[in-house]
Amino acid sequence: MKYNKTSFLPALLLILAAFAVAAIQTQDEAALEAKARDIHTRVLSVDTHCDTPGRMTRPGWDVGERHEPGLRESGQIDLPRMKEGCLDALFFGCFTGQGPLTEAGYANSKARAIAQIDAVEAMTAKYPGLVGKATTPADAARLKKEGKLSAFIGVENGYPIGDDLSMVEALAKRGVRYITLCHSSDNQICDSSTDRRAPEDMGLSEFGKKVVAECNRLGIMVDVSHMSDKSFADVIKASKAPVIASHSCCRELCDNPRNLNDGMIKALAANGGVLQMCFLSGYLVPPQANPERDAARKALEEKYGTFETMDPAKRNEAMAAFRELSRKYPDTQAKVKDIVDHIDHIVKLVGIDYVGIGTDFDGGGGVEDCNDVSRMYRVTMELLRRGYTEPQIQKIWGGNIMRVLQKVIDIAG
Ligand SMILES: [Zn+2]
Repeated sequence: MKYNKTSFLPALLLILAAFAVAAIQTQDEAALEAKARDIHTRVLSVDTHCDTPGRMTRPGWDVGERHEPGLRESGQIDLPRMKEGCLDALFFGCFTGQGPLTEAGYANSKARAIAQIDAVEAMTAKYPGLVGKATTPADAARLKKEGKLSAFIGVENGYPIGDDLSMVEALAKRGVRYITLCHSSDNQICDSSTDRRAPEDMGLSEFGKKVVAECNRLGIMVDVSHMSDKSFADVIKASKAPVIASHSCCRELCDNPRNLNDGMIKALAANGGVLQMCFLSGYLVPPQANPERDAARKALEEKYGTFETMDPAKRNEAMAAFRELSRKYPDTQAKVKDIVDHIDHIVKLVGIDYVGIGTDFDGGGGVEDCNDVSRMYRVTMELLRRGYTEPQIQKIWGGNIMRVLQKVIDIAG
């Protein structure tokens, strides 16, 4: 084509304009990040759920050392990266998977839960200049003032309580401040939202009611994440104190049984509790229809059974096959903006006082632009972009959950 002076100049100007816009955007982003980080110097930030203690019991892995983000062996949380991401306080979730409801099964899971609590205490003993054990909102406030991180303890799955109610008090004495009553299968306390073996939902058991009463007496928050809809309703009725969902989202935006529907969110707000946003893509954005993936999954389920009925001898082989399936057909990846869509939904539905953050890092959590704790301030950037004020951000990041914890402690007396 012949050189044409009149068409070249506008094109050049357009390119220059695009560069200018990109430069302003980068500048805006940097200013927004600086504003978010400044807010975090004043506001206590709390994440109510991770599964990092499982990793902390592994020989050779040190939570006090920085691990490069993005590598599988790094995990998603360590103390230096908490500092980088502006996260002040974390509930270390001591998790046990569901096994048989037998004496041996209970003893096994109890030993594993205790080993993880020991690992959290070993961390605070090894790094006293960096992190302290916290059991009250006052502890977290004091530690923040001292420039230190707070380690709260939660127990994910009430399975290790077995049929021994005194175990709840034993956990309270170790500083445990919440118990997630079940995990992905029904247990001795209540039915789970994801157990597909028995279609009927039995809700909270008689023993479960005693566990809730014991938590109320001892100042332990009852965590309704993972439980079935009837279990949730039964717990709301049984509990004298507000309850939490330590890592769940809104079913209205993403129809997943692990999320709470609007009626449940209203009941939780009326109870004075709080719903903590989980960073798990499958709970944040609806999966895209994919018949090929669904057929492949069905074939695997026919071969191995579902997770609840899986042959233990073949479990590792089955897990590898399901992992390969996820690699071949990855879920739609959520972003920070999707998390804040869920926050917006709750704020519109019941107000600013009933929502918080519970990532589930090291337990399946992580979104595209916030896939480890070092990027947590990005949630604050998105809240600022949408016009949330500092007092509102303070409630979302920690004010709400600390209000609930204080109330639970006060009711225990
Ligand atoms: Zn969980």
